[in-house]
Amino acid sequence: MPITLALANQKGGVAKTTSTSNLAFAFAELGLRVLMVDLDPQGSLTVAMGHDPEDLDRRELALYRSLVGDRPLREIMIPGNPALVPSGILLAGAEQELGMDVTRSGQLALRQRLQEVRADYDAVLIDTPPSLGMLTVNGLVAATHVLIPTQAEHLASIGIRALLGTLGRLRRGLNPDLAILGVLPTMYNPRQVHDGVVLEGLQEMMRGYGIRVFEPIGRYTALARASLEGKPAVALEPGSPGARAYRDLAREIARELTLAHAAA
Ligand code: ADP
Ligand code: MG
Repeated sequence: MPITLALANQKGGVAKTTSTSNLAFAFAELGLRVLMVDLDPQGSLTVAMGHDPEDLDRRELALYRSLVGDRPLREIMIPGNPALVPSGILLAGAEQELGMDVTRSGQLALRQRLQEVRADYDAVLIDTPPSLGMLTVNGLVAATHVLIPTQAEHLASIGIRALLGTLGRLRRGLNPDLAILGVLPTMYNPRQVHDGVVLEGLQEMMRGYGIRVFEPIGRYTALARASLEGKPAVALEPGSPGARAYRDLAREIARELTLAHAAA
């Protein structure tokens, strides 16, 4: 069964974008047809893939034109495996504009757009912005699953509680089938006592919710290195521990969700 996985956490800097790109390339390696959607007006994923958000906005080839305008998604998609729906700062305007559109429900815009291309992919990964606004809601309404990256730090659990509240409302409303795949601790340093304590607290809290906590992704320079080649560590430094961690995670998710073609 194809999946649409939103990576969400209203906190910035928790590795949503890093996880999106590395998981997408790792899924593609497993033989899956993968599409990434950059739903963040900052365009970090678009930049990380080697594209210029400003230029794409100017040429009306970024997500804003499809989400608020009427441009078919196929016309803005950058082909490849993974393929990319790019974004730029114009998308920030959609936050308001989608809310004011009285002719249709603004929360459904992305879900409807994705239907145009859904059949062409085994996995769609959506990178969401650091807020719980209209854009993130669009991502969560379009998704079948959500993965919550978080840093192992004090107070992270408060943010996750707020996010779980939003997810609960969406499941009672627009997206009853939305499944919480789990929480992904990132930038974890096992040598820091503090990280271990926070991780244990997080695991305990999530047990209470019945939500899975994945094996933490360590803090690795290969994952942080800005690439000029438009590819994440999984593709550029496949032997590095960071790349291996994301490949293991991709295999784990593919197995759990029995994604088509996924190698065991
Ligand atoms: P978000 O999309 O949630 O804002 P990013 O993916 O942009 O977060 O990550 C924030 C910063 O942390 C980036 O500079 C990224 O390169 C770095 N980073 C992400 N994951 C790791 C990791 N496991 N180890 C080291 N640095 C990381
Ligand atoms: Mg990001």
